[in-house]
Amino acid sequence: MDALRRNQYLQTMGVDVWVSRHPAAATASAAADGPAAAAHSAAAAAALSAVATAPSAAAAVAGRDSAVLARGTGDSSRITTWESLRSEVLACTKCPLHGSRTQGVFGVGSREAQWLVVGEAPGAEEDRRGEPFVGRAGHLLDAMLKAIGLSRARNVYIANVLKSRPPGNRDPKPEEVTACLPYLMRQIELLRPRVMLAVGRIAAQNLLATDAPLGRLRGKVHHFGELNTPLIVTYHPAYLLRTPSDKRKAWEDLKFARSVFQGLNPAQ
Ligand code: URA
Repeated sequence: MDALRRNQYLQTMGVDVWVSRHPAAATASAAADGPAAAAHSAAAAAALSAVATAPSAAAAVAGRDSAVLARGTGDSSRITTWESLRSEVLACTKCPLHGSRTQGVFGVGSREAQWLVVGEAPGAEEDRRGEPFVGRAGHLLDAMLKAIGLSRARNVYIANVLKSRPPGNRDPKPEEVTACLPYLMRQIELLRPRVMLAVGRIAAQNLLATDAPLGRLRGKVHHFGELNTPLIVTYHPAYLLRTPSDKRKAWEDLKFARSVFQGLNPAQ
């Protein structure tokens, strides 16, 4: 990527662009873009070969809810389509959050997308509008995705672990996750993404069925579910709004995710 484009992306994300007061150093750093990119690819390849295979939540959920997740059970009432699943989510009363939400927030984006972004739960604006990531954090997420060529209108699908808003934006309770996660699993089954990006601790820990802190989950390729879908972890955009100094690390995560995807689809 040329330096101008890279700087535009970084500015869109709100990452401060460092400009050298010494032109020679600046030139050298621009020239180093190639080797740096190569080093990054090498890191990505190393991370790919040292694959972190976590027991996925899909397996955990499959144990609990295999009839719902499994295709080909012979029970045609169980066959899920996007629309039937959406209707189920919007009518869901499996946890008490249905009593306080304005509406269920199903997901948004292309149902043909190769990328799936998973967040935590709807906030106030999402609850009001019925679409994930449409508040301030959502605007930052859109900018982050744009920086790697993705948009919810074209080539990414976005969904949350919880489909209903927890009051006051508190963390999801375990029993809420237990009730709601099967919906996300069925979305994943329908979408069959090539790459997944978990934004924030709640999404990452629930998808990977781990208590590991976010810092330990970043920077490596996890694998999700039976299809071993590569899963990369990064910061939640709401956290980045509070801690803009970590946007640079989020940018590293995004470039890493893009390199993993490009490794799967060399032509793209
Ligand atoms: N935060 C999330 O995790 N998801 C949303 O949809 C909005 C904010």
